[in-house]
Amino acid sequence: MKTDVLIIGAGPTGLALALSLKEAGIDCIVVERRLDIENTSRAAVIHAHTLDVLDELGVAQPLVEKGLKLTRFCMRDRGQKLLQLNFDKLPTEHPFLLMIPQDCTERILLEALLNAGGMVRWGATVEAIEQTPEGVTARIASSQGVNVIQARYTIGADGMHSLVRQTAGIGFAGGTYEESFILADVDMDWPLGQSEVSLFLSPEGMVVVAPLPEENRYRIVAAVDTAPEHPQLADIQALLDSRGPEYGTKVRSVIWSSRFRVHHRLAERYSKGRLFLMGDAAHVHSPAGGQGMNTGLVDACLLGRMLADVLSGRCDERYLDCYELKRKPAAEEVLRIAGRLMGMATMQNAVKRRARNIVLRILNRLPSLKRKLEMNLSGLSRKYAAKI
Ligand SMILES: Cc1cc2nc3c(=O)[nH]c(=O)nc-3n(C[C@H](O)[C@H](O)[C@H](O)COP(=O)(O)OP(=O)(O)OC[C@H]3O[C@@H](n4cnc5c(N)ncnc54)[C@H](O)[C@@H]3O)c2cc1C
Repeated sequence: MKTDVLIIGAGPTGLALALSLKEAGIDCIVVERRLDIENTSRAAVIHAHTLDVLDELGVAQPLVEKGLKLTRFCMRDRGQKLLQLNFDKLPTEHPFLLMIPQDCTERILLEALLNAGGMVRWGATVEAIEQTPEGVTARIASSQGVNVIQARYTIGADGMHSLVRQTAGIGFAGGTYEESFILADVDMDWPLGQSEVSLFLSPEGMVVVAPLPEENRYRIVAAVDTAPEHPQLADIQALLDSRGPEYGTKVRSVIWSSRFRVHHRLAERYSKGRLFLMGDAAHVHSPAGGQGMNTGLVDACLLGRMLADVLSGRCDERYLDCYELKRKPAAEEVLRIAGRLMGMATMQNAVKRRARNIVLRILNRLPSLKRKLEMNLSGLSRKYAAKI
């Protein structure tokens, strides 16, 4: 089998890249070892700049229709507000945070890809990749046996443990945070209602509460010393009672829960020869600020446009060097923001925590600094990195 672009991985970034290429009339194949879209929600927010970029692929509108639009992000010490950011005055077509579970986002991207004439080869695992002077050869195993695909370019949209990155011998420097994390989607009575994303910075540790589109449904993310494998209703209730508002919270049911570790790593290079990296294969960091999937989706849209320009003969192959020049600095900035938020949220020392709260209260009265934070979190400050 031959194709112009082989995309390994049908997570959000692989799907977005395939859609971008299909829309431009470029031949591509997507292979995915899973049998279907994973039924867990993971990333729960899409930021303004990502929606602006996805608009070009015609998927911003269906995402907005399925999601919940919020305009407020608050940092709180238990019930007290420390800092409030507002997204409704930002210079964008989408001045809000869009709350939508990752599996819904992936389904919308997949549907658009199928409508554009594309498809995903589910249950197909890439076992080995080799670069030749003409392109890349990949060995793929599925229930039908082993196939070989030859492609002019191969893209690693294959997540944190990327085979493409390993095959290319690209380093992935960084580390792993000591804390483990609890992640849960719950139905609950919540005193703050479904109008803001709240980050609580209590002495017990941090917890994020983010409303999801279903009525009374919320995403909970909390850093703890040791997380249970499957956090139960009582664990989540205890977390919110000790870190959230003093009263008024009643967890009714846990829809889904999990624990995970957080890494912060960045690929040394974004390509080697005809192998390219994007999404989690190129950068991973803490979910504070909800930037991971967003950064990957913008990688995918830019790389899609550049590959289409090269494969259709409009640009020389050297043009693809701009991909790393644009997207690596953007990921570096995101890693810095997520690292700072994480450091601030998991501060242990009582004196430092008090100082942090004072600084946040002062910041809350400085509109120009607040605006800078809003531009950073919405991704709009990195607009330059999505243009060629
Ligand atoms: C618990 C958790 C919470 C998160 N919360 C947020 C959040 O709030 N906001 C945010 O923006 N991000 C969040 N993220 C990060 C977000 O989920 C990722 O950034 C996003 O999924 C990355 O997309 P991707 O397409 O790059 O990779 P992935 O989603 O990891 O997809 C990679 C795909 O490649 C496939 N694959 C891998 N190797 C092969 C192979 N050899 N052959 C075939 N297929 C292969 C895998 O099966 C997988 O489906 C969270 C992640 C986790 C784990």
